[in-house]
Amino acid sequence: MVALTPMMQQYLTIKEEAKDAFLFFRLGDFYELFFDDAILASKELEITLTGRAGGGEVKIPMCGVPYHSAEGYIARLVDKGYKVAICEQVEDPAVAKGVVRREIVRVVTPGTVMESKSLTDKSNNYIVSVAAEGGQLALAACDLSTGELYATSFAGSAELLQDEINVYFPAEIVGDAGVLEQLRSRPSMTSRPVLYTEREPMEAEALSQLLPGKSLDGLPAVRVRAVSLLAGYLSETQKRSLGHLRAVHSYEPSQYLILDPFTRRNLELTETVHGRSRKGSLLWLLDRTKTSMGGRLLRRWIDKPLLSAAPVEERLEAVAALYGNLILREDVRGELDGIYDLERLVGRVAYGTAGGRDLAALKASLDRVPALLQLLQDSGSATLRRLTHGVDNCGDLRELIDTVLVDEPPVSLREGGLIRSGYDSYLDQLREASTSGKKWLADLERREREATGIRTLKIGYNKVFGYFLEVSKANIASLPEGRYERKQTLANAERYVTPELKEKERLILEAEEKMTDLEYSLFIQLRDGIAGELHRLQRLADIIAQADVLQSLAAVSAERRYVRPEVTDGYDLDIDGGRHPVVEAVLEGTSFMANGTQLGRDEARMLLITGPNMAGKSTYMRQTALICIMAQIGCFVPARSARLPLVDRIFTRIGAADDLAGGQSTFMVEMRDIQQMTDKATVRSLVIIDELGRGTSTAEGMSIAQAVIEFLHDVTGCKALVSTHFHELSHLEESLKYLNNACMAVKESGGDVTFLRKLVPGAASTSYGIYCARLAGLPDRIIGRAYKLLETLENQYDEGAAGRSARANSEMIRETAAAYAGEAVSVEANVETVAGVREVAGEDAGASDG
Ligand code: ADP
Repeated sequence: MVALTPMMQQYLTIKEEAKDAFLFFRLGDFYELFFDDAILASKELEITLTGRAGGGEVKIPMCGVPYHSAEGYIARLVDKGYKVAICEQVEDPAVAKGVVRREIVRVVTPGTVMESKSLTDKSNNYIVSVAAEGGQLALAACDLSTGELYATSFAGSAELLQDEINVYFPAEIVGDAGVLEQLRSRPSMTSRPVLYTEREPMEAEALSQLLPGKSLDGLPAVRVRAVSLLAGYLSETQKRSLGHLRAVHSYEPSQYLILDPFTRRNLELTETVHGRSRKGSLLWLLDRTKTSMGGRLLRRWIDKPLLSAAPVEERLEAVAALYGNLILREDVRGELDGIYDLERLVGRVAYGTAGGRDLAALKASLDRVPALLQLLQDSGSATLRRLTHGVDNCGDLRELIDTVLVDEPPVSLREGGLIRSGYDSYLDQLREASTSGKKWLADLERREREATGIRTLKIGYNKVFGYFLEVSKANIASLPEGRYERKQTLANAERYVTPELKEKERLILEAEEKMTDLEYSLFIQLRDGIAGELHRLQRLADIIAQADVLQSLAAVSAERRYVRPEVTDGYDLDIDGGRHPVVEAVLEGTSFMANGTQLGRDEARMLLITGPNMAGKSTYMRQTALICIMAQIGCFVPARSARLPLVDRIFTRIGAADDLAGGQSTFMVEMRDIQQMTDKATVRSLVIIDELGRGTSTAEGMSIAQAVIEFLHDVTGCKALVSTHFHELSHLEESLKYLNNACMAVKESGGDVTFLRKLVPGAASTSYGIYCARLAGLPDRIIGRAYKLLETLENQYDEGAAGRSARANSEMIRETAAAYAGEAVSVEANVETVAGVREVAGEDAGASDG
């Protein structure tokens, strides 16, 4: 066993405490990493790996980063899913006996970053905990930077839990080992790497100390357990007061419209399927918020649409008031524009990381509040009046900051210039002393110039020698003997001091040091004072965020000519002239073709939609879902008019979903989704299935599709829009009472097809697949042959199925096939070759089947 130096022994002890985190070990002006930490970090951060003698024979691997630029390095590691324990020297090395005492002051983890660089303004950064107790699963979610804290629970499976976790898009999950194990074994639905940490819950007493006043009474035990797991982890990693956490917002999953992760993705609520960008999502379209808080809240509203009419109506009422009054809206937006991210400012105040600029931003925000609240009070909206009634505008805090802090404080807290004159008389005296000292220096300069006749004589200052008189070499000869004491020689000047100058210097520097110390402590007093009032500021921030979201919804609604939906507790859905909000916005120049949707309990509950590719089927189906979601958020909707039931769930199964995690086949994933849907959909749900039954043989696909449609029709009784390329299924209209056929109209002329984007009753004649193939430029030989084969198949089908609705297709097919008659000879001539190829292909297929 090698004897390590005392410092390395200290390192190892602390490293044990840091466990799975990188240990950033403070050594003077650097954070150093050792052993395996150093090897891994040097790779991840692309910094040089060196070695340090540590007592043994071989050098210890080491790498380090300067402390003043550590934030960037820490952020990079945390972004990659690591934890970083920051270990500081906690005593002055100058007075330490032996090894300087060091302690971990904070562990930065992906779910607990507070540094602004790692946080984007309009998104939250949640850490989630999971717990199991008494057959229930619970989750708690917290954004440490804003103090939000949520908890909910389920009676059911890990599936539901995972759906709910996905809403929070966490980078880190802590909690009961068993639940984490279940989550880990499921394919992840998010693009973010997740860091898992097992935890034990805290003692009840410790928990209530940690979250004083955040009453956990009345919360189901399993939720308390989840909160406890989370709070314990936060307290252990943050090592400071969690006073800025809000009261737990406990909710039932059934309070909100349930959207599974596939549906969220398919409908592109917060990011697009391709490229996962915000641009092109519903969030992007609806976001006209002016504050970051509003931006985050809008996202939460979109993530959690409501499920009861009263609160939806409240929101709609406010949107209506702002919609109809452009001047009011612009005034509100104007005031919001000057309001900074209060939630995160408050978080930094609580954390003790807020600087002068942060408090100035807080004051500037509070400056806007009275006018904003007044506008909302006078808006004529009952909702906005209620929201802002009797609100504490925190004017006293604004006054406080204004009295203490200068208007434009510097970045640094250690160099003075923070505190307004007139606030503290001792500080004013010191400032006076410092100013008069400087004035004395200026006088001295003038006096000495006169006395010596040297016009270029000047007074200067540097950190090593303090104040001095400087005379250029050329003028030295004219200096009276013995007047000054020489201090420093430069290339072309000499520097001198006098006892009088030294004495004044002492006074000036002392005053300055006292001044900066005093300013610092006055600033901390101010910050601590505000920290005691955080909850008032948080309440205010909440109200501002809501007002911001409401004006944002109103602004988009007015601009895009949306209408106020009528939201009911009934079953029937009636959209007249509906549009897809995002496609419409993106199309710009070309006009979007509006289509209605009517689904009723006693009429058609389901539409079976056929029509060629690119006709607009999936756009139409998504628009119906989006209109429902928008209404339940409290937004106006893109339609001529809309009467909408509150739907409890929306399922979408949109074919050919790509890049699915878990490496399962598309077909298997589709079937799993359908299974979920048949299991969970209720009569109040809306189901959307695009291209049902592909990915297997035609006969099987069609059979599955029919069986699923029958199930939804006979058993579930929900509203559904189903598109299929099996136009043969259109016969179902005859046997299923509540199912109607619909199709996307196309205009044919001279073998060309124009998409009219208009939904009309009835079944499409054909899927125009071969037509599309022709558009794509496939050789005429293939196109001609395909039509020929299709004709044969259709004839067989006609004979077999004896004149079902598909018969209408044959005419067009025959006609088109005839148009290719000229090619027929060459097609025939090639049959042999084609057959030959087919044989070989058949062998291949056989081989790969096995
Ligand atoms: P399908 O699902 O039938 O293959 P899509 O719904 O994907 O067709 O629509 C194809 C394209 O047609 C869309 O990308 C969109 O640009 C355009 N489109 C769809 N519906 C409309 C409409 N109602 N008005 C105008 N353009 C539309």
